[in-house]
Amino acid sequence: MSKRIQGIRGMNDILPDQTALWQYIERKVEAVLEQYGYQEIRLPVLESTDLFKRSVGEVTDIVEKEMYTFDDRNGDSVTLRPEGTAGCVRAGEQHGLFYNQQQRLWYRGPMFRYERPQKGRYRQFHQMGVESFGMAGPDIDAELILLSQRLWLALGIAPWATLQLNTIGSSDSRKQFGEALLTYLNAHKSELDPDSQRRLENNPLRILDSKDANTQALLDNGPSLSDFIDDESKVHFEQLCKILDRAGVNYQVNTRLVRGLDYYGKTVFEWVTDKLGAQGTICAGGRYDGLVSHLGGKPTPAVGFAIGLERLVLLVEQLDLGAELKSDNDIYIMPLVPEAMVEASALGELLRSELVGLKVMNHCGGGSVKSQMKKADKSGARWALMIGEEELKQNQVVLKPLRSRAEQKTVAWDEVVTTLKDLNVE
Ligand code: ATP
Ligand code: MG
Repeated sequence: MSKRIQGIRGMNDILPDQTALWQYIERKVEAVLEQYGYQEIRLPVLESTDLFKRSVGEVTDIVEKEMYTFDDRNGDSVTLRPEGTAGCVRAGEQHGLFYNQQQRLWYRGPMFRYERPQKGRYRQFHQMGVESFGMAGPDIDAELILLSQRLWLALGIAPWATLQLNTIGSSDSRKQFGEALLTYLNAHKSELDPDSQRRLENNPLRILDSKDANTQALLDNGPSLSDFIDDESKVHFEQLCKILDRAGVNYQVNTRLVRGLDYYGKTVFEWVTDKLGAQGTICAGGRYDGLVSHLGGKPTPAVGFAIGLERLVLLVEQLDLGAELKSDNDIYIMPLVPEAMVEASALGELLRSELVGLKVMNHCGGGSVKSQMKKADKSGARWALMIGEEELKQNQVVLKPLRSRAEQKTVAWDEVVTTLKDLNVE
């Protein structure tokens, strides 16, 4: 026997008994996005490598070590998308969506990052992203946060999701802060964790992100980003907070919250939970007014966020909020003798045409009455519809209740639909 081929590490199969929960979550999310007037955009998973180098940035974890990059057959360097914003901006620009227009867009799909797989962190994972373009004010930032909160409410996870909020100011204020931080940390270089030492050279702001306790303690005594924020960003942030306060949204201002990429500015936020261990961020976003022009378009204000769907699924599962989702059949049709196969199939089609809301499953593949009954029971169906030798002769069908003590009855083929309607099976 030849060796069995395995799936690729960190790339999960989502099996049939899990997809019900995925679909449930995706539908809830779609319904909320619909409420706010967002439109779906569908984008390729493969883009030019340059797109991510330029948008995500050369000195980020993603571009330095996480991308799936390869040459296609023509020798062009392409990359499996590690995130969705870059492609969304690329497409919007390419198709003129930003020209004198505002856009509220969302996308969903697989993303790819070569990371160390663990709970909540995979090499192929899924994001739902929301991006809005052409609106510069804090009102749209607030809208995205309110929208995301409404998602948590719809899914019942709101009590376990905390909003962390910050403003990272203009690129000037970040530059000045970065210099002050560098001066301070250079004097303490040996006390920093290795990752932070490396970041000191190329992306000092990202050190604020460090999970290392020593580094965090060191930062306590260093310069604070909040002291460097420019006036315009300050006002923007104050107004955002006012809208959130008025809406009754709880949030923590976390002055260490940053996004390591140059084109982010002003608002940044994350929704975190303590229910998932180290991978506790379920949603992250912020304002990136600089990106569209950075990729060659006209300056276009933009703000967005992305949800990690695996983490959302884990959370809903862990809190047991999707338990009742298994969807049962309504009707299971059984040809009790092989000769009844044709009529059983026709009966299934008749019911699917006449009783559109029903879930009707035909038993296929033959087998004894006993084994068919077992499968009917396992399917969760409320009714078994059976055609045996006698029914075949008489043009009849047997209706057998599987979930109640009601009597089984034999009805004429022509009356099956009305009988089922009378039984309120619909
Ligand atoms: P993290 O700090 O967890 O690495 P990140 O800052 O790299 O997150 P973003 O690029 O902001 O993450 O992506 C948005 C969301 O996508 C994250 O908050 C998380 O929920 C999810 N996500 C990111 N990377 C992964 C991954 N490798 N596996 C599963 N989900 C992920
Ligand atoms: Mg990451």
